[in-house]
Amino acid sequence: MGNHSSPDGERVRAVGMLSGGLDSTLALALMREQDIDVVGVNFSTGFCLTDHHQKVHREGTDPKKLRNGALKIGADFEVPVEIIDIADEYMNVVKYPRYGYGTHVNPCVDCRILMMTRAREFMEKIGAQFVFTGEVLSQRPKSQHRDALRTISIQSGLSDRLVRPLSARLLAPTWPERAGLLDREKLMGFHGRDRNPQFELARRFGIEEWEQPAGGCCFLTDANYAVKVFDMFEHTDRDTVTRDDMLLCKVGRHFRLDANAKVIVGRFPEEDAFLKNFGGARPRLSAVDHKGSLALLEGEVSPETLSRAARIAARYCAGKRDAEVRVRIDHAGTEQVLEVPPYQPEECEAWILR
Ligand code: SF4
Repeated sequence: MGNHSSPDGERVRAVGMLSGGLDSTLALALMREQDIDVVGVNFSTGFCLTDHHQKVHREGTDPKKLRNGALKIGADFEVPVEIIDIADEYMNVVKYPRYGYGTHVNPCVDCRILMMTRAREFMEKIGAQFVFTGEVLSQRPKSQHRDALRTISIQSGLSDRLVRPLSARLLAPTWPERAGLLDREKLMGFHGRDRNPQFELARRFGIEEWEQPAGGCCFLTDANYAVKVFDMFEHTDRDTVTRDDMLLCKVGRHFRLDANAKVIVGRFPEEDAFLKNFGGARPRLSAVDHKGSLALLEGEVSPETLSRAARIAARYCAGKRDAEVRVRIDHAGTEQVLEVPPYQPEECEAWILR
């Protein structure tokens, strides 16, 4: 067992960034092995897959997808977990990342800086001595190379109070190691994308269950989602983009009609309900005589765009093979019905964003 008291005799306390994924779970296990008191933190960014699945999921979805993995791990290890909501300030990070995007619309370095900054504040608030994460050197090309890890440590204000137990032996000794609060020899030297060392360590600790993908984080790494968000950034003043706008990019099929108009169509009833609730002032379209999806028109509202949106809504209702379908349009407190021929798949295929 390593040291578990600070030089002044207090028990050592650390804040652990927990996602519920394997890496942060192993980091937690390594800290508990050294008898460190841990308080977990988990950040709600508004872009977590778990949060999204809780809001929009098909009937029969695996309940494991709907639970917060960090809380589960906290319960397993008997450590308290604080959920910190950073969704409002996170929007700026997604829209204007100082360090740019990863492969898709994931601003990982900025995201980590924000999370570590809030973790540092939490550490100071509860009188903990350091923060640890499950980051692994070079596991992710954009945010976990050596320079990125250093940038995150410095920009968050944590500096050498930020410990990465899974790669610690490949990194410069941190303050808790130098101060003798942590035994560096018992930390790991993991590196790169090979997960076998983690699986082996999981076996050693008897850890059998963790979240897939790691931590329910996050749909900003989803290629299809990124296409829709970048399309929105291209056609909208980025300053005006809201959280609801970002959420709508996660739901339904999106058809870019032209520079000024887009149509979103639900793919299943739960998505229709979501579009209805989060559609704001956008015109809502649905077939009058058939079961079918709800569609939203975004952007320019004109007779032409309404007609095209109605034809798309008709294409996704049970009457899609009829010559004409009646489509109701609710907009700004008024209601009108258009009778339109449903589009054939090949007529609107090219507009789908994916
Ligand atoms: S994958 Fe998402 S949550 Fe994870 S660091 Fe990148 S942006 Fe942040």
